[in-house]
Amino acid sequence: MTAYEPPRDVVSKVRRVCTQSRHAAPARLRFSEPVLSLCFDDFPASAAAIGAPLLERYGGRGTFFASGALANAESASGRCYHANDVSDLLRAGHEIGCHTFSHCDGARSDVFATLQDIARNRDAFAAMGCAPATSLAYPYGETTIELKQALPRRIACARGISPGLNRGRVDLAQLRAYALFGVGGLTRALHALKRAARTKSWMIAFTHDICPTPSPWGTRPEDLEALLVAARKHGVVILTMSAALARGKA
Ligand SMILES: [Zn+2]
Repeated sequence: MTAYEPPRDVVSKVRRVCTQSRHAAPARLRFSEPVLSLCFDDFPASAAAIGAPLLERYGGRGTFFASGALANAESASGRCYHANDVSDLLRAGHEIGCHTFSHCDGARSDVFATLQDIARNRDAFAAMGCAPATSLAYPYGETTIELKQALPRRIACARGISPGLNRGRVDLAQLRAYALFGVGGLTRALHALKRAARTKSWMIAFTHDICPTPSPWGTRPEDLEALLVAARKHGVVILTMSAALARGKA
């Protein structure tokens, strides 16, 4: 299966930097203790089967960013969730976030079409018993300043894929996050976690499948556990995106 990849030309790269630097939902966040949020984008079934219980063992809960079109579908990160996974996770206290319905590239789609796609996702998950999502992750991390400004009011925070800790002045329309995959991904995340602990920041990490032989976008269970062990060692609490945001705004 060939996975879609956003354009990598220089103009697109410059546009991404500009979009990240223009705040559409400026806010100040302050935390009394460091926080880690773990996101499972595309919501592969393995993230529910292996990732969720692993988080629970460390007293944490995660955010599963789901696209309605990916239900029961084969993705580049393996088979995606079933409706039963959604209800099981909700019952255990995890969060289902919005990842648009069709997993569209928000930088290459018309803003209105993306907003319609976000609404379609809300309706698809309402049929599975979910309240409207308050957290969003842009597919491929791709967005525009226009889309950031036009997000529905119910979306309290949206997440991109640019690395960095969230503390002090942030853009709630494009929070920063670390990839838990790729060359050096885990090492960078572990360093960031130490910094988050020292500075009482909110660190967000994202991955896709959780599998002993993961896809290029996934994480091995032992690597996820290494991050959870480090979080415990450094006194970092593990919260869903919405729970973390509530702490930071308090
Ligand atoms: Zn995705």
